[in-house]
This record gives sequence, C-alpha cells and structure tokens, in this order.
Amino acid sequence: MIYVVLLCPFCKSPRIVRANQKTALCYTCNRRFNTLNCRKLYSSDNLKVAMEMLKKVKTSRWNYF
Ligand SMILES: [Zn+2]
Repeated sequence: MIYVVLLCPFCKSPRIVRANQKTALCYTCNRRFNTLNCRKLYSSDNLKVAMEMLKKVKTSRWNYF
C-alpha cells in the first residue's frame, strides 16, 4: 500500500491518503475532494514515514503556492 501526502485543494491543509483512494475528506475544512486534483508532496509505502512527512509539512512554513 502506498500512502500519499497531499494538500487539500480548498484550504491547503496537508493530509495522508492511500494511493488508490479517489476522494478524501479534509479534516480542516470538512470538504470532500478528488485526490487526482491535489498537489502531491510525498509518497511512501511506509505509513510511519508518510506520517513523519505530514508532521514536517504541518510544522514547516513551506510555500506551496
Ligand atoms: Zn481543506
């Protein structure tokens, strides 16, 4: 299973989805979005690694735009 760190297209909050997941619900703005339309930051087959990356994205002030 591949896990992908991507950004919600509405509020730019990062979250993790499975690579075969077509839609996801954003925990921040509560909107459902198509994962194909999202900016993907990182992917890994290791959930722990993906979660570490998610943490880094959340705590850093990277410019995504
Ligand atoms: Zn959102």
